[in-house]
Amino acid sequence: MRNVVIIGSGCAGNTAAIYAARANLKPLVIPGHHAGGQLSLTSLVENFPGFPEGINGPDLVENMKRQAQSFGAEYVHGAVIAADLSAHPFRLDVEGEWIDTRTVIVASGASARWLGLPSEQKLIGHGVSSCATCDGFFYRGKSIMVVGGGDSAMEEANFLTRFGREVTLVHRREEFRASKIMLDRARQNPKIKLLTSTVVEEVHDVGKRLVTGVRLRNVKTGEAWDQEVDGFFVAIGHIPNTKVFRGQIETDGEGYIVSEGGARTSIPGVFHAGDVQDRVYRQAITAAGAGCMAAMEAERYLEAEGH
Ligand code: NAP
Repeated sequence: MRNVVIIGSGCAGNTAAIYAARANLKPLVIPGHHAGGQLSLTSLVENFPGFPEGINGPDLVENMKRQAQSFGAEYVHGAVIAADLSAHPFRLDVEGEWIDTRTVIVASGASARWLGLPSEQKLIGHGVSSCATCDGFFYRGKSIMVVGGGDSAMEEANFLTRFGREVTLVHRREEFRASKIMLDRARQNPKIKLLTSTVVEEVHDVGKRLVTGVRLRNVKTGEAWDQEVDGFFVAIGHIPNTKVFRGQIETDGEGYIVSEGGARTSIPGVFHAGDVQDRVYRQAITAAGAGCMAAMEAERYLEAEGH
């Protein structure tokens, strides 16, 4: 029987592990299929306090994990594929092995959102990507397109100009959701061309199993045209990873966990941390703070229950 099982190993999960381990609760961390979370897919993180020169995302998250392990947190491989939170102890199926635990911290984050076009889906890994840091290298000297109007799209477009000869940023509206500083940076980058009020209707060429171009349409004029591109990056936000808890923990219409205040979910003893609940801030530092809160609440809950 475990005291605390932490689901997820991004900033939130690792910080929860540090706090729970220092409270002598010997937490077990189940990292999921994307260990390290979104930070493991980023490059330089410039806004995490304490690193005036910035720190690489993968290094930051690995440091957190080592810090948690040094206090006794245990990490296994795999992901939670089913959960029974209807009775105590809670039960989690980690790829065939059931684990019993008194408390659960859900820090499973959020995954990249796709446009949902059949052609886009078929070409993932063949020129379609959701991660510039992972795949940008393959497009040296090539023509690249990024879809989205938020900070992620700006960040990806800027990053991809290191590799591509040109980057076209396509956004469905005239106004951008991105912060002014990120948008200005993209606007000032001579390699980036902004294409607003434009949607992607199709990614070519499924027959060749390779991205060769896209079909675009201006939503104001209705004009449609083809543009040649070699790499197609989708940066339009994320979907919370709460599928295995559906019908058990209360979530909102988009699947984000509904907070009952602090780190509490609708189930006493189950706590949330990070992007799985936060649709507003979604920063490494806020996720870390949320991980701390969840661990402290788990500790208090266990104490109140006499453990
Ligand atoms: P976001 O802010 O939710 O922006 C998503 C963008 O994708 C929006 O512009 C949206 O268009 C567009 N979009 C959504 N669905 C679409 C669809 N089906 N077709 C076409 N376009 C679609 O997501 P994000 O950019 O991933 O940022 C998430 C959070 O992380 C934000 O709080 C952001 O500030 C933060 N972030 C910060 C940094 C940084 O500071 N370095 C970097 C990355 C992310 P509409 O605007 O029309 O809805």
